[in-house]
This record gives sequence, C-alpha cells and structure tokens, in this order.
Amino acid sequence: MLKKQEMVVKMEIPIYSGVMDPLGRVVLPIEIRRKMGWLEKTDVCFFPGQEDGEIIIRENPAAAPAHNICLFCGETRGLIEYRKKLVCESCMKKLAGLA
Ligand SMILES: [Zn+2]
Repeated sequence: MLKKQEMVVKMEIPIYSGVMDPLGRVVLPIEIRRKMGWLEKTDVCFFPGQEDGEIIIRENPAAAPAHNICLFCGETRGLIEYRKKLVCESCMKKLAGLA
C-alpha cells in the first residue's frame, strides 16, 4: 500500500523515458511533480522497491515543509500549514472566499 506522498517508478512500464546525465540526474516530469505537489527544492528520498529495477521516491518527512514557500504563489512570509502544505495568508483568504 502506497502512502500519498510516495510513488513507485516501475522500469518495465515507463511513464517517462529520459536520459540520465553524467551526474546521475534525470528530470521528474512536471505532470508527476504537480500531482505530488512537489515544488522546486522539495527534499526527496530514494528507496529500493519491492521488485528488481524499482525505486520509490518519497518526500522527506524530516524536511517537510521543505520549501517554506506558498504552494500557490511562492510567498515566503506569513505561511500557514494546512494538510502538510504551506499556504500564505493572501491565498488562504482567496481560498476561503471560494467556500
Ligand atoms: Zn500564496
């Protein structure tokens, strides 16, 4: 059973095909980052999966909230944590206005 903030990348069914650079870096597609709510500078950990050729990428819970910026606008001041995500007061008011 996967937790919300982790995903399994199965090598036999690629959802993205990319080339690793000499430093071992690959791009995590924007669709996945958006789905996970992972912004720039999100601190992630890699774990071996259950099967060969499988890895688990998980947001580092020790670093959460990792980015210290508003999920919606990037503001760094006056942040409020809601469901492990940071939202600034301005965006929180806008969201409250939608209710
Ligand atoms: Zn905001």
